[in-house]
Amino acid sequence: MAAQAKASGGCLCGAVRYESSVAPSDASYCHCRMCQQSVGNAFAIYADFPTAAFRFVAGAPKVYRSSSFAERGFCADCGTPLTFQYLGRPERISVTLGSLDDPAACPPQRHEGVEGWLPWLSMDDGLPHETTEQDPEFQRMRGFGGAVRPPGPVTKGGK
Ligand SMILES: [Zn+2]
Ligand SMILES: [Zn+2]
Repeated sequence: MAAQAKASGGCLCGAVRYESSVAPSDASYCHCRMCQQSVGNAFAIYADFPTAAFRFVAGAPKVYRSSSFAERGFCADCGTPLTFQYLGRPERISVTLGSLDDPAACPPQRHEGVEGWLPWLSMDDGLPHETTEQDPEFQRMRGFGGAVRPPGPVTKGGK
């Protein structure tokens, strides 16, 4: 990590590495079905960086257009899910919390996509809950894709 970097991370195999000159912020759980499928688990946790402060210092993720208005990046060598980005919000990039070298430093602030919350999952952390449809960011970004049909699976209400 360069001297000025406030955060760093990467994938399991190390082919993709990133750094940011700004600390991560606004971490949140997402329980939506698309995040479950994207990370292959019960929920995803993403933290945000300003894109201007963020750069890849080794490799680059392969990018999957998961909807007409969002992209998800992952390591093509080891499969680690790494990034989420709204096409209409290029100034912010989200990374999977577990890909950070210090995930403990950025505790999640809320639960999103709670319509997909698995019935056996118990997390009594007192954090606010929000459905995908209640997320104002999702509402704004959904319009960005417009009538462009996503190349990925057609999904209902997801990103
Ligand atoms: Zn990798
Ligand atoms: Zn989600």
